[in-house]
Amino acid sequence: MDMFDYIIVGAGTAGCVLANRLSADGSARVLLIEAGGSDRTLWIQLPIGYGRTFFDRRVNWMYDTEAEPALHGRKSYWPRGKVIGGSGSINAMVHVRGQRGDYDDWAAAGNPGWAWDDVLPFFIRSEDHDHGASQWHGAGGPQHVTDISRVAHPLCRRFIAAGEAMGYPFTADFNGPQAEGVGIYQINTRKGRRASTANAYLRPALQRGNLVLRTHAHATRILFEGRRAIGVEYHRRGATVTVGARREVIVAGGSINSPQLLQLSGIGDAALLHSLGIPPLIDARAVGANLQDHLAVSYFYRSSLPTLNDELRPLVGKIRAALRYLFDRGGPLSMSVNQSGGFIRSTATSGRPDMQLYFSPVSYTRSPLSERRLLNPDPFSAFLLSFNGCRPTSRGTLAIVSPDPRSPPSIRPNYLSTEYDIGQALAGSRLLRTLAATAPMAEIITDELVPGRHLQTDAELLDDFRARADTVYHPTSSCMMGPDPATSVVDARLRVHGIAGLRVADASIFPNITSGNTNAPTVMVAEKAAAMILDDARFGQQ
Ligand SMILES: Cc1cc2nc3c(=O)[nH]c(=O)nc-3n(C[C@H](O)[C@H](O)[C@H](O)COP(=O)(O)OP(=O)(O)OC[C@H]3O[C@@H](n4cnc5c(N)ncnc54)[C@H](O)[C@@H]3O)c2cc1C
Repeated sequence: MDMFDYIIVGAGTAGCVLANRLSADGSARVLLIEAGGSDRTLWIQLPIGYGRTFFDRRVNWMYDTEAEPALHGRKSYWPRGKVIGGSGSINAMVHVRGQRGDYDDWAAAGNPGWAWDDVLPFFIRSEDHDHGASQWHGAGGPQHVTDISRVAHPLCRRFIAAGEAMGYPFTADFNGPQAEGVGIYQINTRKGRRASTANAYLRPALQRGNLVLRTHAHATRILFEGRRAIGVEYHRRGATVTVGARREVIVAGGSINSPQLLQLSGIGDAALLHSLGIPPLIDARAVGANLQDHLAVSYFYRSSLPTLNDELRPLVGKIRAALRYLFDRGGPLSMSVNQSGGFIRSTATSGRPDMQLYFSPVSYTRSPLSERRLLNPDPFSAFLLSFNGCRPTSRGTLAIVSPDPRSPPSIRPNYLSTEYDIGQALAGSRLLRTLAATAPMAEIITDELVPGRHLQTDAELLDDFRARADTVYHPTSSCMMGPDPATSVVDARLRVHGIAGLRVADASIFPNITSGNTNAPTVMVAEKAAAMILDDARFGQQ
């Protein structure tokens, strides 16, 4: 059996960070196992290409949830990267750390070392930020953060003015001293290319002789000796391969596949595992519990001023955008369409921002939003306003339905299962209408295309939310971190409760979902996990 010091399962956002940091000093032999293949394709490297990878089974697990009762029985489509770089290779690149309070909540839930002041150095360490080094930002770190405020679509300024008209402050940096307000999002690109952790962390580390990457290798089981993880079994090109871990196995398969792999390996609800013929190693009911996600809805407006639709829809516009990109790696192809937005308090009594806003100068009313026709928007000038609650309180579940590792698990987000989340759905829908009615917006809006002015009452707006709201692709917390093995999966050092030599380090460990987009927090989690793993190795732990 081939032996390694560390085996990392999943070369996604977190796995690429871990592979780099754990192999850095050359002393440990590290294996990175990835079910997908290469990320060297145009539609992954070109920032706006995420519209194309959204439904591409070659790089995407393409999950569906179960029918959600609160969404009128609709299933939600959950894309997840199955490729080097993981979901970070197919995401919209918006770079948001979240709020100080998110991490202070993590620490207050019994996770020492995860308060904002503890995690800020790991955010900074990861960054090569356009703003340069400061007490808030890093320079010279692996992942580039681009400030697009000078090149964002001009209508973003109008959105900001609309926010200011509602009393929200302008912020020049959601990741700086003032996370609250309206402004322009920063994105993970470098010189017009996607700055996934695959590009930022993994690629340079692959030069090292002590790091081995195995692609198209689907981990099917963690191997144990008693209650210690000692290796991994994976399938590759029709063969079953086992590899051994001298020190640790680190699961970084993301919020869907990490709990799935634990359950397949005998770490999960014992009754569920028994029913599927999997001998439980321990009864760990929290595996797959506590799943969280952000649920958003968009309102579409016809505009009297040109939007990205006018640039991206016509063939001549596409050619112009392509030439612009080839010329200086700039223009709309070098960005996300989510260019501006905000974190605002929806009521006077909200203690901190509780709603995230998006203004995207583009619309797709002729096709469902879920189809992401970024390069084929509507054939007229229009834009969208969107919101999601920052910290939903609904929690869902994830469970394997078969001992076959190729079977997708059953995903039940349980959206809108609390009064708080229902209240936010209604408040946010009303808030979008109020934003649209401010002078800077009303001056250019000629029509509300979707849902349409005929919907006015609370019942109608809530019904519309249930009919159209959908994920913004941020599942977290399915292997939640916490002190109590009855309610959580990993401890504050990300060690699986009750098992030696096994950690989980990805978005699944978030004790609660962060207030914004989840990629940057996942990078931070992986940076901190790597530091803890190296520390523990130094002191002979695990
Ligand atoms: C369409 C989309 C848009 C998004 N937009 C944004 C955004 O703009 N900003 C933002 O901050 N976040 C965004 N996100 C969310 C963000 O990308 C994720 O939160 C983040 O990538 C999660 O990282 P992870 O390491 O937990 O999982 P992933 O990055 O998903 O990595 C998991 C990896 O493990 C591999 N794997 C899984 N199981 C196995 C197995 N059994 N064997 C081998 N390999 C395995 C997978 O193939 C994958 O490569 C978006 C996500 C999507 C899908």
